[in-house]
Amino acid sequence: MKIICVGRNYAEHAKELKNDVPSEPVIFFKPDCALLRNNKPFFIPSFSKNLHYEVEIVFKINKVGKSISKKFAHRYYDSIAVGIDFTARDLQEKCRTKGLPWEISKAFDNSAAISRFISLDDVKNVNDLNFSLTKNDEVVQKGNTSDMIFHIDAVIEYISQFVTLKTGDLIYTGTPSGVGPVNVGDRLQAFIDDKKMMDFEIK
Ligand code: ZN
Repeated sequence: MKIICVGRNYAEHAKELKNDVPSEPVIFFKPDCALLRNNKPFFIPSFSKNLHYEVEIVFKINKVGKSISKKFAHRYYDSIAVGIDFTARDLQEKCRTKGLPWEISKAFDNSAAISRFISLDDVKNVNDLNFSLTKNDEVVQKGNTSDMIFHIDAVIEYISQFVTLKTGDLIYTGTPSGVGPVNVGDRLQAFIDDKKMMDFEIK
């Protein structure tokens, strides 16, 4: 499986990192060894002094598809989770200023925390869904999927022009504003609506 991520998909977050709001989705990938499951702790890697959380809604692809049009895209997913796209912001900055790809700041081991999945049957409207992240019991990020610049069906249409989507692939759909650092001893909890989906420690 592969992990596909959308960058700068919420206007407020694009602004906070001083990026332009994109006219096409910004896509990057993480390898399967990036997955961090089952509320296991996240160990801060030694190569970063500024490790950030980014809470995101994640869609799981449930069948193979290529060149999927937007109007059929909803047939390719039926469950969602909440995830954290851990980012080594200092490495990302370094790569960005040199005009280089920032893959290493995003794709390292355990950089894609993922919650359990819930069926879309249990969600009223996936394009109007509240989600949030707390750090040490304080709300640090709050989002609603209606604020995404590119909604999931548009993202699937865009990505699948280039890359075949396969069963089990995950799409991280971007983070709202409020990203910030994690430190040893922090506790992160992520929610979809009021449902606690994920609860783990930073070590
Ligand atoms: Zn992200």
